[in-house]
Amino acid sequence: MMQNFDLVADLTEMLTKKFETVDLSHTLAENCPSWPTHARFGHIVFESYLYGDTSCHYQVTMSEHTGTHIDAPLHFIAKGEAHYGIDKVPLSNLFGRAVTIDATYLPPNGLLTKSKVIEWENSQGPLKSGDIVLVRFGWDRYWAERPNDAQFLKDWPGVGADAAEYFVTKEVRAVGTDALSLDAYNSGNNPVHNILLGNQVLILENLNNLDLLSPYAFVMAFPLKIKDGSGSPLRVVAFIPKNP
Ligand SMILES: [Zn+2]
Repeated sequence: MMQNFDLVADLTEMLTKKFETVDLSHTLAENCPSWPTHARFGHIVFESYLYGDTSCHYQVTMSEHTGTHIDAPLHFIAKGEAHYGIDKVPLSNLFGRAVTIDATYLPPNGLLTKSKVIEWENSQGPLKSGDIVLVRFGWDRYWAERPNDAQFLKDWPGVGADAAEYFVTKEVRAVGTDALSLDAYNSGNNPVHNILLGNQVLILENLNNLDLLSPYAFVMAFPLKIKDGSGSPLRVVAFIPKNP
C-alpha cells in the first residue's frame, strides 16, 4: 500500500516538476477547417443566463473527424479483426513514447518515404514497439478559419505507403500528422489509412504545435467513448522535459 502511494507521488512529482506540457490540439471553433464532405463544427447556445436561464450551456455539432482527432480502425475497415470502433480501443494504446519525425523539407503533395524514416532512425535512434510516431509536415501553420482555410485544405503532404508498411513492421501504436489526413492530398484510395487501420495502428490527424517537440516526448491522446465510433476529437498533450 505504502509502495503504491510512493509510486503515485513520484509520478505526480515527476510530471509536474520535471516536465512541461505542450498542447497538440487545435481549438474547436465555428469556421475551423473541416473535410469538405464532413459535418462542420457548430456551437449553439442552448440555455443562457443572458436569456433568463439559470446557467449557460451549448449544443455542439460536429463530425467524429472534426479538428484534432483520432481514426478508429472501423473508419476504413469494414469487416474482420480490425473492424472495431473507438470505444473498443484499449486505453493503454493511447499514451506512450512519441517520436517526432521532421518532414518539413517535403514539397506540397510530397510523401514521407521508408528510406527517410530509416535515415531518421540512424540519426535519432530506432523506433520501438509501442511508439506513437508524429510526422511533422509543418502544415498546422495553414490552419485558419474560413475563408482563410484554402491552403490547409489542399496540397498537403503525407506518409507514403512504403513508410506505412514499415511502421506496421515496427509495431508502432499510432501515427500522427499535422495535416488534414495522413494520406497526402489526392492520394485516391487512401492506401495509408487501409494499411495502418487494417493492422490496428491508430491515426491522429490535424495535430498542432509539433514544432515544439524534441524527437522524444511522452504523449497522451484520449478520445470520447463513442459506441462504435469511427473516430473522435482528441485533446492531445505532450510532456517534454523542462530545461534545468
Ligand atoms: Zn480522420
